[in-house]
Amino acid sequence: MSSNSFTAPKGTYDLIPPESETVLAVREALAAPLRRAGYGYIEPPVFEDVRLFARGVGESTDIVSKEMYTLTTKGGDELALRPESTASVLRAVLQSNLHRQGSLPVKVWYSGSQYRYERPQAGRYRQFWQVGAEAVGAEDPALDAELITLAADAYRSLGLNDFRVLLNSLGDRTCRPVYRTALQEFLRGLDLDEDTRRRIDINPLRVLDDKREAVQAQLTGAPMLADYLCEDCKAYHEQVRTLLTAAGVEFTDDPKLVRGLDYYTRTTFEFVYDGLGAQSAVGGGGRYDGLSEMIGGPALPSVGWALGVDRTVLALKAEGVELSAPARVDVYAVPMGEQARGVLFEAVTALRREGLSADLSFGGRGVKGAMKAADRSGARYAVVVGDRDLVDGVAQLKDLQSGDQTPVALDALVTTLKEKLK
Ligand code: AMP
Repeated sequence: MSSNSFTAPKGTYDLIPPESETVLAVREALAAPLRRAGYGYIEPPVFEDVRLFARGVGESTDIVSKEMYTLTTKGGDELALRPESTASVLRAVLQSNLHRQGSLPVKVWYSGSQYRYERPQAGRYRQFWQVGAEAVGAEDPALDAELITLAADAYRSLGLNDFRVLLNSLGDRTCRPVYRTALQEFLRGLDLDEDTRRRIDINPLRVLDDKREAVQAQLTGAPMLADYLCEDCKAYHEQVRTLLTAAGVEFTDDPKLVRGLDYYTRTTFEFVYDGLGAQSAVGGGGRYDGLSEMIGGPALPSVGWALGVDRTVLALKAEGVELSAPARVDVYAVPMGEQARGVLFEAVTALRREGLSADLSFGGRGVKGAMKAADRSGARYAVVVGDRDLVDGVAQLKDLQSGDQTPVALDALVTTLKEKLK
């Protein structure tokens, strides 16, 4: 690399063809089941008032306290690139009054980049892509079960089967505080570093999520939330489990699953792909009944998830799913000379308007180079036109699979190709 060239910022990567086609297809596939379930597309801006995340995601989370990309605009506004989209989506729903315009829940999905200043490693980036879904304004175990089922179906539709669904309930306003106090008491008796001790005060549940062995070893015998759930939460959770079983979605109860964000209540879940090493979560979500009120809205119990597109692509590779990129074009036109270029430019335009994909050799390349480009393009047919052909009013149509070449009248070129490629 010379000193005056640039590379993508640390923790980011470029999506380039042909892999970029695969990624687009994965995004589409993850969203398809949502469309079939009545979720509408929503797209909030990629940056928001920094306080939305501080309040909505939680100041005690790593995402907000350490990983946010913040900026002050020339006008003095404090903004942040979104580290996740749930708070933004809920803000957008509230601002546009979607929750007052029709029946609840408001069901929406999004697809977009998220930004976290994390230490980059395989499967962990500073800009990554999520497809997400939120169902706002209803408390119904069938809604939680619907979302988990839709995510599982989305993975399966891509050919990903070796994932696990982890499931837990985090309780509600009644039972969680009681558990929290019991957990804090237990944790205070352990041998923990200062950072972790601080976490006991702010968000003790997250200590359970600590991946370090020295911490995990001390956690055996910790009080478990499952033993503290109130009757309502227990009944709710049982219904989610029953509905998932009825839908044929296998899951594992994971009493230690707490996830990183402050706003979760009751149902919480994660999709894990074990072949990915440390960054094995391919998606996750849960119920967030208190979030709307936290950001100044009315009580709107809600549930949602976000699936990581980057990691889903990695998981598909690990599972050996063939992710073939589609051929770039059907037809590749090779003009020999300026006049032929004009004729073929018109032909290519006409083909595209007829719904076929077509490309042209640009830059006055010689025939040999142009035919190589035709092969590389994945086209089924090359259309070659030289001066002699123009005199005869024909184009040479070359079948790139068989190698056969036949002259076709120029004015019948588009209809002939349409017929052949049907
Ligand atoms: P979260 O918003 O943290 O619940 O994450 C939901 C999903 O987004 C995770 O399961 C990952 O698949 C993906 N994800 C989160 N953080 C990153 C990251 N830094 N790089 C790539 N994917 C990520």
